[in-house]
Amino acid sequence: MISVRDDLRALEGYHSPQVDVRVRLNTNESPFPPPQEWATEFAEAIAGIDWHRYPDRGATTLRAAIAALHGVNAANVFAANGSNEVLQTLLLAYGGPGRTVATFEPTYQLHAQIARISGATVVEGERNAEFRLDPAEIQRVLGTYAPEVTFLCSPNNPTGVVEPAAVVMELIESAPGLVIIDEAYAQFSDWSALELVREDRPMVVVRTFSKTWGMAAARLGYLVGPSWLVAELDKVVLPYHLDTAKQLAGTLALRYVVAMDDRVRFIVAERERLAAGLAAHPIDVIPSGANFILFRPRQMAGRALWEGLLAHSVLVRDCSGWPRLADCLRVTVGTEEENTAFLDALAAVVSAPSPVLSISES
Ligand code: PMP
Repeated sequence: MISVRDDLRALEGYHSPQVDVRVRLNTNESPFPPPQEWATEFAEAIAGIDWHRYPDRGATTLRAAIAALHGVNAANVFAANGSNEVLQTLLLAYGGPGRTVATFEPTYQLHAQIARISGATVVEGERNAEFRLDPAEIQRVLGTYAPEVTFLCSPNNPTGVVEPAAVVMELIESAPGLVIIDEAYAQFSDWSALELVREDRPMVVVRTFSKTWGMAAARLGYLVGPSWLVAELDKVVLPYHLDTAKQLAGTLALRYVVAMDDRVRFIVAERERLAAGLAAHPIDVIPSGANFILFRPRQMAGRALWEGLLAHSVLVRDCSGWPRLADCLRVTVGTEEENTAFLDALAAVVSAPSPVLSISES
């Protein structure tokens, strides 16, 4: 029997466990679908699709609309099936066997995962105790390994930490290869590295329709970067990878920037309410610039808190078993009702005697 590639044998798949609950705050989705007007326009548009024809291979209209949103040229935009496919295409083109990819942990697990699948060697830098990037660590990783590709996720998943412009600039100036800034959550923060993209700079900013745009089901993401790099990606990606319906979905969504900005403001306000609610308990709250918050109870095990919340039918992400994230949980900002349900459940669990602690004390 044929076996999988040697270097893939130890790889575990990417899992995000789903449980049937009343309040689901574990996958960083938007709590809102796109506006109803969008759904109506989209339904009309797909009724007119020539289904016997391949899609526009260059996704010309969609790319032009994304470019207009960011004030760049269509040649600076590459779109794919979710930002995950954007990352995969980048790593097929610039990672691969014999090349090195650097991450700063803890961060989005798929950066290392996709890099390994491409055949690249992954080197892990460390964030400090506040989950921030220290200049000395940047220099150590880049100086020691000279990676062809360096990842920076900002706001970082799962910590929510936003790196300041000065740190991002230092990374770009020190990196010997391509720098990928993953900005899946950037709309929820007050700064974006988009302003740093330049034709003569090997750096890209990756965005997604899955969060702010409330379109996780559509699987659409993109990057903004130098045109010479976009041209290489166009060679690597499969022909006709973006189906016609998806191209329409994304293009039409960009007519609703104002509605989306309103949602972002609401989510940011609710995030601050959640942060204050969490901080009212003996819980460390990591300051977030995203649509989620990482937190760590000080007086009970993270897993016990996760189970307690689940008993109240509230599901958050259990990061407590992940490397460098002992006892940490991550909650996604939901609707006002969902957030209140989370805070109520939290108060109930934190004030109740913990079964885990009472077992270990006896
Ligand atoms: N980057 C980060 C940091 C993420 O958290 C996610 C989603 N979990 C993605 C990329 C992938 O998003 P999508 O493929 O839905 O665009």
